[in-house]
Amino acid sequence: MNTIDIKKTDKNKIASTYARHDMAASSGKGARCYDTDGKEYIDFTAGIGVNSLGYCDEGWIKAVTEQINKLQHCSNLYYTEPQSKVAEMLTSRTGMQKVYFANSGAEANETAIKTARKYGSTRKGIEADRGKMITLKNSFHGRTLGAMTATGQPNYHEDFGPLPAGFRYCEANNIEQLEELADGDTCAVMMELVQGEGGVRQLDKAFVEAAAELCRKKDILLIIDEVQTGIGRTGKLFAYEYFGIEPDMVTFAKGIGGGLPMGGVLFGEKTCDVLQPGNHGTTYGGNPVACAGAVEVLSRIDERFLEEVREKSSYLKGRLLEIPGVSDVSGLGLMLGVTLDVKPAADFVKEALAMGLMTLTAKEKVRLLPPLTITYEEIDKGLEIFRKACL
Ligand SMILES: *Cc1c(COP(=O)(O)O)cnc(C)c1O
Repeated sequence: MNTIDIKKTDKNKIASTYARHDMAASSGKGARCYDTDGKEYIDFTAGIGVNSLGYCDEGWIKAVTEQINKLQHCSNLYYTEPQSKVAEMLTSRTGMQKVYFANSGAEANETAIKTARKYGSTRKGIEADRGKMITLKNSFHGRTLGAMTATGQPNYHEDFGPLPAGFRYCEANNIEQLEELADGDTCAVMMELVQGEGGVRQLDKAFVEAAAELCRKKDILLIIDEVQTGIGRTGKLFAYEYFGIEPDMVTFAKGIGGGLPMGGVLFGEKTCDVLQPGNHGTTYGGNPVACAGAVEVLSRIDERFLEEVREKSSYLKGRLLEIPGVSDVSGLGLMLGVTLDVKPAADFVKEALAMGLMTLTAKEKVRLLPPLTITYEEIDKGLEIFRKACL
């Protein structure tokens, strides 16, 4: 098969789960992406927060190719070095006890849900069919049945019933409602600290602190979904560091592998020994090549790197607010939500793409998740197009 009409074949032969933009990506370098016609785009999406080091970072390519030339996969029935390295790095930098490796955000959250249910059943004596988990309205936790049901947005549930039982939804920032919902059968509360798909909305610190305190008092597990906010995205390794809390589980995915599919759960003291052999697993989870990529990503994201992310964030935020048509910028670090008063976000995203800038939507906002390594020159180039696309 030499040549193929990509767009036509895609439309006819690939399940239409995505309404794709009219662009076929072909290659990239740093924060620049090129389509099959050679047209250049500044990428403010990083593959939805995945390519944390940008396209084709040299150190990352070296780490990944060295590993692929040694061992591309090995069953989780055996030890592999890259997994241990990532586990060591993540636990030493967070103070969490153990890690479980999955391949995606949804799988990471499924793992946390199963762990919470087993904790409820075996440690709290909650009857198996009564265990409850509280998540927030407007949240997003993934597309598999459990993670989708955890997602507090009814439009994601439509037509996919019957849904797994035991999920309750609390309004974000409403501590009274959370107190009401958190009864004796509640095994866990799960939340994103900056709701990503839900519109880049940061939770109030007071609510998060009160929720953490409530969970501690009632022996309810606190699960923080850092699939989007984690691995340096917000200018800290994990966003929960801004909130002064100690979660019982932290789920991560998107940015960890630098572009390779990877996700996982960090377990605290209460949860690190809940799952036992036979309880849970995945064939691909912790794949050595993905883990080699993660080792490179984590070793690059040191304190200085995180400070640079915070500096780039305030520069980008400030410059965005100077653009006529931009009325607000929300978010943390390089996870930003831009409110426009000139046109709907979806129209903006389409027009900006045609002009050579890749952006995302999140509800009514334009969402930006550039690679964490984006240069000021690339930011300026992107901002120039952003300004034009606001006209
Ligand atoms: C993207 C995302 C998920 C789902 O991750 P997948 O890898 O697409 O399964 C879960 N939670 C949050 C907060 C996300 O942003």
